[in-house]
Order: sequence, then C-alpha cells, then structure tokens
Amino acid sequence: MSPVWINLSYLVSAIFFILGLKGMTRPKTAVRGNLYGSLGMLIAVIATLLAAEVVSYVWIIVGVLVGGGIGTYFAITIKMEKMPEMVALFNGFGGAASVFVAGGDLWLRGALPPESMSTSVIFSTALAGIIGAVTLTGSLIAFGKLAEFRFIKKLKPLPGQQVINGALAMLLVALTAVMVNNPGSGWYWLIVLIALALGYLLTISIGGADMPVVIALLNSYSGLAAAATGFVLGNSVLIIAGSLVGASGLILTQVMCKAMNRSLPAVLFGSLGPAADGPSADEVYTNVKSTSADEVAMLMEVASSVVIVPGYGMAVAQAQHAVRDLTNMLRERDINVTFGIHPVAGRMPGHMNVLLAEADIPYDLLKEMDETNSEIEQTDICLVIGANDTVNPDARTNPNSPIAGMPIINADKAKTCVVIKRSLSPGFAGIPNPLFSADNALMLFGDGKQAVNDIIAAIKEG
Ligand code: NDP
Repeated sequence: MSPVWINLSYLVSAIFFILGLKGMTRPKTAVRGNLYGSLGMLIAVIATLLAAEVVSYVWIIVGVLVGGGIGTYFAITIKMEKMPEMVALFNGFGGAASVFVAGGDLWLRGALPPESMSTSVIFSTALAGIIGAVTLTGSLIAFGKLAEFRFIKKLKPLPGQQVINGALAMLLVALTAVMVNNPGSGWYWLIVLIALALGYLLTISIGGADMPVVIALLNSYSGLAAAATGFVLGNSVLIIAGSLVGASGLILTQVMCKAMNRSLPAVLFGSLGPAADGPSADEVYTNVKSTSADEVAMLMEVASSVVIVPGYGMAVAQAQHAVRDLTNMLRERDINVTFGIHPVAGRMPGHMNVLLAEADIPYDLLKEMDETNSEIEQTDICLVIGANDTVNPDARTNPNSPIAGMPIINADKAKTCVVIKRSLSPGFAGIPNPLFSADNALMLFGDGKQAVNDIIAAIKEG
C-alpha cells in the first residue's frame, strides 16, 4: 500500500477513535462508541500490516495469535468484578510494549549511519522508555493492590522516599541528556531500569482510598508512552491514539482528584501517604445493631423515599439484577427510589454505572453524590449495598483519618440507614467505619444478592 493510502487510513482510524471517545461519554451510546474504537483500531492495524516496510509476516502472525489469544481468553472468562485488575494489568502491558518497541527501534538504528538518528528521535526513545517503564511497574503494583495480594499490602515506602523519588527523577533527566549526545542501547536500558524503580516507588506509597487517582494517571501514562513511541517510529496514528489516551486519562485523573478532594501535584509527586494508624475496630463498633430482611421489609413498606447506595460489594455479589427487581417493586408501591452514586465506588471509574446499566436500571434514577447528599436528611431509608469507604463519616469528621477530606455519601444523615454486607470487615482503605455503629444504622449481614432477594421475598409475603 502506498504511504498516501496508509496515511489516509490512519486519518480514518483517528476519526473513529474520536467518535469512539465521544460515544463512551454516555451510557446509552457507550457500546456504539466501543465499536467505533475497535473499528478504528482494526483499520490502523490492517493499514500498518500492508506497509511496504513489513519484510516478513511470520513473527507478526505469531505475535497476533499469541497476544490476541490471551486477550480473547481474558475478555471472555474474566469475571465482572475482576475487570479493574485486568484494566490495571493491560495499562502495564501497554507501557511494556512502548519500552520494547522504542528499545528495538534504537537497536535497529544502531546498525545505520549515525545521521539517521535525529535528536528528537533519541529524545522520544528515552521518553517512551521512561514513561513506559514507570507505567509497567506502577501498574503491576496497582494490580497487586486491587487484587489485595497480602505481600503487596505489606510493602512499605522507604524512609525519605520523597527525596529518593526526586533524586531518581533528576537522574533520569541527566541520563536522557547523556543519551541524546551519545545514543546507545546501554544508556537506554539503564534509563529503563531506573524508571522501573521509580514507577514502583511512586505507586507503593499510595494509601488505599487514593488508588483511583493513580489508576487514572497510569492509564494516561500508558497513552503518553505510546505517543512517544509514535514519534520514534514516525507513525501518526500511534501519536494520535496515544495522545487521545493520554489526554483523556489526564482529564479522568482530574475528575478523580476532585472526587477525592486531592491535589494533582500531590499525586504526581507521590506524596500521598499510606493509611495512618487510627482507632481499632473494637473501639469503633460499640453500638452495632443487626437487623433481618423481615424488619427491613417492614421499614420499606412505610417509607416514601429510598436511596440505594451501591459499592464494591454489589459488584462482588453480582446483586445488580436483584437490586433492579427490588427497585421495580418499590416503585410500583409509589415509593420514590433513587441511586446515590459515589464517583469512586467500586474498583474502576463508572463501575456502579456499568453494573446498573447492565441490569437495565433507568439512568435517570442515578444521582450524583452532591444531589444525593442535598436530599439525604429527608430520605426515609438509605440502603447501602456493599459500600464502605464511600459512606465512611470518618472522612468528614476525623482529620487524622487516611481518607480525611474525601467527600462521601452522607448515609449517616438519612432517617434510617440499612447496611448490607457480610461482616464488619473494612473496605479497600482498610479502616473501621463508624457508620455501622451510628444511631440511625441497622446492619443486615449477608451476601448482597441473597440479602436483597430476602427483602423482596419478605415484602411479597407482607
Ligand atoms: P469498599 O471497598 O470500601 O467496601 C466494599 C465492601 O463490600 C466491603 O466492606 C465488603 O464487606 C463488602 N462486600 C464484599 N463482598 C460482598 C458481598 N458478596 N455481599 C455484600 N457485601 C460485600 O467499597 P466502596 O465501593 O465503598 O469504596 C471503593 C473503594 O475502592 C474506595 O476506597 C476507593 O478509593 C477504592 N478504589 C476505587 C477505584 C475506582 O476507580 N472506583 C479504584 C481503586 C480503588 P464484607 O467483606 O463484610 O462483606
């Protein structure tokens, strides 16, 4: 295929990428958006495969079969609640791909006359190596934290870590300058090694509830690494696609920062601390009252407004369909039902929206956190299903809490709050929740799906 046709194909794919992103801004058009994005990628891949530079298809086909096979296997078999871990891992693979493609290109250019390497290409190579490597180790740690691996939880930041991070960042700048004047694979791999350490150190220090910001940022980094690789290869579609991912990831990072009431520089320089020591569970849980599905059903029968606050536990229990049935049942009885959606509920941005959309819950019932909070004091029942950190009043009242300052859904201010979860175990941030001991709170212990089905059965019987 001639370069003109290839560039035209790249332009068409870029248009599909932009249409895809636009589609993904609304739940109703998200599936179409996803398809546009995939189509754009298909066109880009085919055009690249037809380029004159391709000398042999053997290794390309092997790579496509192995990578495509693994990707298809995961896409089909992964459980919905494991999706965030998979996304974190794939961000890391994106970073690794940039490291190896840029490194491979540098190695190939080593056999060519020195004039073939312009300063901008060498600089882009170093940048792809740095951002890609930071993304790789950062994402692997994020994956471990999301999967709640014990050994990852035990890893602690080093003493004086901020200084070490700063020193490593400066070393990377200095080595990049050396590499620009003296291009060679040795310098490149030294840079990659240091960047791998920096990615690890930056992410290991992030406290539990602040992970959403980091994941959005790593997503953005994976795009920026791809864009830098695009400059190395002179490939316009990689530059465009990488920049789109980088820019949308940065916007998402800012949205997450706002949702968590954190500043972006604090995240960028890794200055968020890990969970501090707070009161023990025994000190907090002095007034826990447990309830039954029958009692909750009786409360519902006399309620005129119910706000459902879903959290990660709803995803684990796959309770969204039962929640839809309960919603329909209550609405048929003229009870006003809304959903209070916290922006970081679950384990990935939009996690609750995706689950509720999957169960065909009307989108206009979903309210943002501020709107829910403005009405919560007049709400008869706040039904918390598998949420914990996002309804923890410690964030509002305890300045020493690791989640201090994070906006929450004020479930403790509803007339009655019913919390469905299996035990008094903490959420992702690993801290006790005074809500469970609040005067207005009743605990319905059990699996989310089973508990909601029990409430439905009790309402039917009543
Ligand atoms: P949490 O992680 O705070 O709590 C989830 C609760 O669900 C647990 O306390 C658990 O209690 C309960 N649970 C688990 N399984 C079930 C089940 N089968 N049935 C009923 N309950 C169950 O959830 P939130 O959504 O409130 O908060 C999200 C947290 O994750 C925040 O700290 C956020 O910062 C973090 N995070 C969010 C990301 C995002 O992008 N949204 C990304 C990374 C982290 P029990 O075991 O007792 O049942």
